[in-house]
Amino acid sequence: MGDYKHFESKAIRTQSDNSLHREHSTPIFMTSSFTFESAEQARAMFADEVDGNIYTRFTNPNNNEFIEKLCLLEETEAGIATASGMAAMFSSMAALLKTGDHVLASRSVFGSTHQLFTQIFPKWGIEHTYVDIDKPETWSGKINPNTKMIFAETPSNPGLDIIDLEWLGVLAAEHDLILNVDNCFATPFLQQPRKYGAHLVTHSTTKFIDGQGRTIGGAILGSEEIIQQIRFFTRHTGPSLSPFNGWLLSKSLETMPVRMEKHCENALKIAEYLEDHEELISVKYPFLPSHPQHLLAKKQMRYGGALVTFIVSGGYDRAVRFLDNLKMLSLTANLGDTRTTVTHPSSTTHSKLTLEEQNRVGIEPGLVRISVGLENVNDILEDIVGALEASKQKKVLN
Ligand SMILES: *Cc1c(COP(=O)(O)O)cnc(C)c1O
Repeated sequence: MGDYKHFESKAIRTQSDNSLHREHSTPIFMTSSFTFESAEQARAMFADEVDGNIYTRFTNPNNNEFIEKLCLLEETEAGIATASGMAAMFSSMAALLKTGDHVLASRSVFGSTHQLFTQIFPKWGIEHTYVDIDKPETWSGKINPNTKMIFAETPSNPGLDIIDLEWLGVLAAEHDLILNVDNCFATPFLQQPRKYGAHLVTHSTTKFIDGQGRTIGGAILGSEEIIQQIRFFTRHTGPSLSPFNGWLLSKSLETMPVRMEKHCENALKIAEYLEDHEELISVKYPFLPSHPQHLLAKKQMRYGGALVTFIVSGGYDRAVRFLDNLKMLSLTANLGDTRTTVTHPSSTTHSKLTLEEQNRVGIEPGLVRISVGLENVNDILEDIVGALEASKQKKVLN
């Protein structure tokens, strides 16, 4: 692999060494295991005396290429490709925490991450406390002697809250805690948490890294020292990524910078246009001056991201009518696709939260989340505005 200066070149040019065929594009290594040249080589590889692929549950050339590239982009040493974003979240925590440990987590987290904290980790006596991102002064008071990790999502899903990564890095260092940042919404193109002292960067690669809605995957990135501990866990518990998906994801990284630029350009235009729309109570987008942490977003993110949320007047019924009146945009729980996707978090992705929990993270019944895609921005807007208009009145069925 070469030594390239800029983000885009790293994303495109980082590639495994050629095989015997001098191919230009990396082939897919669909093999469950690898042969040894000798019994001695096998012994040495198992003893970690020499590097090399042994078995695809551990490593595979496609996943290695994908992770090496992602490490360059996140400016970190080591990483692990996982079968899903949740496998990355779970493994990054389960590998490092034990019974009696405590995690401080930003309140607004992905729905399944919330389930990990509230339903799964308690089975093993691992506790958590949620903290509010708009009240950073309350965080240090909630750090206990058994606190081991800070877990944060910024921008959060679907709140689009921004947490000050620089401040978070200092807090983690002061209290000797592992800082684990879910960087799924931003991607390393918009924000690199490692620069602010995050020990772990976790990803659902299903979203903008794939970017075309084809695969489920994840990644855990950090220093070699910390990744080594997690690698032991993943090697023996098996949340490995398929080489086919690793190949797709490595290819996807090549276009990630241009895709993200366009996603963010379209999203900003849509947020700006919708901000004055009379059928909306509010519009939230990190790079709108009306966003409560606008300046912070500008400080730590290159662009504002692809997610825009708004609250329609008329609550749940209106939101549902809006969704049902869309013609082009896709109703799906996913995000980070070339296609613009629309979600109603309160009744789908975050429906497992109680109403009180939803309220505390800003999920109102009228909240709609849009993951702005790469279609022509005028077509996207026309569909949104048309559905807002059409949803004004309840449809009369005959
Ligand atoms: C989707 C998502 C996850 C989970 O990833 P999967 O690939 O669906 O397992 C975790 N965090 C965030 C912020 C997400 O959007």
